[in-house]
Amino acid sequence: MSELHQPTDQHGRDEAPPKVAYVLPVYNESENIGAFHSALVRATEARGDLEFEFIYVNDGSRDDSLAKLLELRDADTRVSVLSFSRNCGHQIAVTAGLDAATDADAVIVMDTDLQDPPRVSMEMISMWEDGVDVVYAQRRTRKDSVFKRTTAYGFYWLLDRLADIKIPRNVGDFRLMDRKVVAEVSRYREHERFLRGIVAHVGFRQEALLFDRDPRYAGKSGYPLRKMIAFAANGILGFSTAPLRWISRLGYVISFLSLLLAVYVLGVRLFVPEQAVPGWAFLGVGMFALSGLQLIMMGVIGSYLGRVYVEVQDRPLYSLALAARGERAGVRSLPRTPRTEPPAGATRRDGAS
Ligand code: UDP
Ligand code: MG
Repeated sequence: MSELHQPTDQHGRDEAPPKVAYVLPVYNESENIGAFHSALVRATEARGDLEFEFIYVNDGSRDDSLAKLLELRDADTRVSVLSFSRNCGHQIAVTAGLDAATDADAVIVMDTDLQDPPRVSMEMISMWEDGVDVVYAQRRTRKDSVFKRTTAYGFYWLLDRLADIKIPRNVGDFRLMDRKVVAEVSRYREHERFLRGIVAHVGFRQEALLFDRDPRYAGKSGYPLRKMIAFAANGILGFSTAPLRWISRLGYVISFLSLLLAVYVLGVRLFVPEQAVPGWAFLGVGMFALSGLQLIMMGVIGSYLGRVYVEVQDRPLYSLALAARGERAGVRSLPRTPRTEPPAGATRRDGAS
């Protein structure tokens, strides 16, 4: 184990063992929860030197998933259960789990339908102990439908072209994150979330772990086509303002076409005047020229809108991996502590005295 993650107190004594929290989103997984939890517990038993917490987030399930989760909690004190008042979506459920895992040294996010094998998470832990900050599980094989595979391929191809960040292919949300990565990810509070993009955006040392994705244990996918499209749109719109700039480009193309048309019309008029339809030149060229101009102007508005969008997202400007400042740095900025007690009888602003 690297000393990087070995917590010791100021005196070098060993503190509590490192804590690994699992963030486990649940949406209508009643038939899976029992089998999943026992598989997870069995896998984690190998690591008696670590402390585990299992944070289940019930994302407004309509079946009796919540009751099952509360049963788990009664039987195992390491289980925590959060439950949403309605279905907010997988990405929000994972976010809530990350928010609740602030005291863990590492957090593992995984699905609760046994598609992400618990034993793979143990390999993630060993890579983390070797100093990797983000271990993302990359699918060597996947047992999804041809439709899901092709749409996923097309989506990542497009995202690769558009987005400002490199998002690895065949990677879902099954990953381990060191606490410092979780802290950074938590600073991204956008509502339309694309977590794997955010994690890629944050940086730090990220490595892949290849695994074979299993089929769903029971039940059906909570990601119908509608949710998949919204999710893909979040990935592209959240990490690229390129579509806005395309409006202008299209405008330039159409304007150029109108120029070609004008030349053609002029040619017809000069060389074969008997074929020229009266009024056609004005309408044809005018239509192309005007719509080209309009698109260019919309693109200009789009560029400003893109900037407003980026500002509204209000993402952190940077994520520090290290700040090794000189000894005297920041001396002046230390908060001033009052040296004397406030005068007797002074009341505090908030009314409490
Ligand atoms: N999930 C969720 N909220 C949703 C949909 C899914 O929390 O609205 C959970 C679900 O319980 C599972 C994980 O997210 O643990 C992945 O969902 P699913 O297996 O349905 O997606 P797929 O594997 O088919 O992409
Ligand atoms: Mg699944």
